[in-house]
Amino acid sequence: MILPPHLGIRDGLLTIGGLDCVSLADRFGTPLYVTDQDRIVDLFHAYKAALTSRYTRVKVLYAAKANGNLAILTALSREGAGADVFSSGELSLALAAGISPDRLLFNGSSKSRADLALAVEKDVPVSVDSLDELFQLDEVAGRLGKTARIAFRVNPALDVPTHPKIATGLATSKFGIAHHLIPGAYREALGCTHIRPCGIHCHIGSQILDLEPFRKATEVMMRIAADLVAMGIDLEFIDLGGGLGIPYRHGTETAPTPEEYAAVVVPVFTQAVEALGITPELWIEPGRSLVADSTVLLTRVNSVKKAHKNFVNVDAGFNLLVRPAMYDSYHEVVAARGADRVPEETYTITGPICESGDILASDRRLPVIRAGDLIAVLDTGAYGFAMSSQYNSRPRCAEVIIHRGTPALMRRAETIEDITGTMRSPPWQS
Ligand SMILES: *Cc1c(COP(=O)(O)O)cnc(C)c1O
Repeated sequence: MILPPHLGIRDGLLTIGGLDCVSLADRFGTPLYVTDQDRIVDLFHAYKAALTSRYTRVKVLYAAKANGNLAILTALSREGAGADVFSSGELSLALAAGISPDRLLFNGSSKSRADLALAVEKDVPVSVDSLDELFQLDEVAGRLGKTARIAFRVNPALDVPTHPKIATGLATSKFGIAHHLIPGAYREALGCTHIRPCGIHCHIGSQILDLEPFRKATEVMMRIAADLVAMGIDLEFIDLGGGLGIPYRHGTETAPTPEEYAAVVVPVFTQAVEALGITPELWIEPGRSLVADSTVLLTRVNSVKKAHKNFVNVDAGFNLLVRPAMYDSYHEVVAARGADRVPEETYTITGPICESGDILASDRRLPVIRAGDLIAVLDTGAYGFAMSSQYNSRPRCAEVIIHRGTPALMRRAETIEDITGTMRSPPWQS
């Protein structure tokens, strides 16, 4: 199996950030998410360098929903990253991480008035998803005596080759405003008293491994930009969204690098802005491609059962990693001890949740596995912990972050009291 540079095998033990996973699991307990901070920072700088070598006015906004831990947001903030936030919670976390409002964009297709008010109060630009939302934002900003800076979320109506549940720029998608209705939307915005249109935004989907959809989306965006300039709108930023995929199948799948991405997208952007005589900032919003491969999920084998299949019952299930159950996602699994042993058996790795669909990985060739062994599920840094739940009343696990060979907790494990603590007895039961 091909491993990224921050993972390795030493004396048969899988390592992350130079530390062996078996010792990490013994010290911090399982299940356990372990993240290499330095890997995330390296990838952020790869994006930044690839873009700025072609166009100087660039912002990389990390899509916080991929992994919202404050330690990750803080690490990226200190390197100069912005953030794309999708809720008041993500907005608050990004501010707590030290990301200034001018490096944030508040996205979302269903924002409440409280969400809009928070964005306006904090001077965070808003990506507006409908005219209904625009008029509510105008009202909210007026009430607060402020002007809201906005972009509209463009739906470029592109058929993107990815899982249908993570394609967001289809004509039928719930996100954004159809590209042909966008000039009309900006005209409405110009008519609002407390709105200042200053950017334009799109995001076409996730886990996209082909650069062509990004090129097409950029072309659509630059055509719209020309219309907006003609309307007299001062475009401060053009945000092309995130969505670059990663090679979950090690060795058989490949993903474009940030360099390859920039080589395709930036020339379309620069040609258009030069022709228009404008110098807006170029924004992108990578999530998965910054954090996915930084993290392994370590899970302990409770039991092995020979039945219709060889089942390996582990202590993490779709409560902690829902992607396989939700999107049929593939994650590589590795025996963390004896990682270099030859595969001898075919195993299906199943979690502790009371659902037949609680399968982390099907029919994998692995060395012989026994109760007590440790399995590492790779590439779990994006939409892993972030999508976890307490289903079956299972407390969520801890998260550890590693920086230059030192591990530290970035989230303690929940206890049963964390689950019961928000519950209340109705008066007729006391
Ligand atoms: C989810 C999302 C992203 C990040 O997508 P990735 O596939 O993780 O890169 C960026 N922008 C918006 C608006 C999103 O909803």
